[in-house]
Amino acid sequence: MIKIIRFVRRKLNIFRFRQSCPILLALMGFITCLGFEWLGQSPLKAQHVPIITSRNIWQYASFPVENFQTYTSGYGYRTSPITGETQFHRGLDMAAPLGSYVRNWWTGRVISLSDHTACGTMIKIQSGQWQHIYCHLMGSIEDTPQGRYLIDRDGGIIIWQGQEIPAGVRIGRVGMTGRTTGSHLHWGLKHGDQYINPGLVIKEMFRYQVSS
Ligand SMILES: [Zn+2]
Repeated sequence: MIKIIRFVRRKLNIFRFRQSCPILLALMGFITCLGFEWLGQSPLKAQHVPIITSRNIWQYASFPVENFQTYTSGYGYRTSPITGETQFHRGLDMAAPLGSYVRNWWTGRVISLSDHTACGTMIKIQSGQWQHIYCHLMGSIEDTPQGRYLIDRDGGIIIWQGQEIPAGVRIGRVGMTGRTTGSHLHWGLKHGDQYINPGLVIKEMFRYQVSS
């Protein structure tokens, strides 16, 4: 009797295993796929950036500064070079010689221009859910009955608030306006109302370039 019960139990176990095997494999495959996805996208996912489904989407992006030299300050906590206090740096500082041209990262509309804050002469551009911010530019902001615009005469730049600007177009020059200790572009990125580390986006752009 015991032998029969054991036999039946064994059969049942085999049956269960056979039944569940494809499900287990599918589950493992799914987990593995998720794992690869996570490995490939982890830095962006960690910041809850929407997953870029098509890698070639980055073909529309432009590196934002000409004559790039080095990154002088990354995104995140740092000791302020001016106040000496710990602060959260919401952008990426890209050193370039004074007067180097700044290019529009992604096609979009100019939603804000200003020249009275620590950011100096600043352009903010909206591209869908993304906002890109360019600080410490040369030139100044003028207000007229026709609207507000940024003027950098020596650089041959005039940018109007509300203007639509294609990616890659020169929108200004690296300056020293606002609070800064050296000539650099402070580049900020926001998705919705969340700041994003621009270094991660540049990394994705680079990955696309080398793989295409
Ligand atoms: Zn900065």
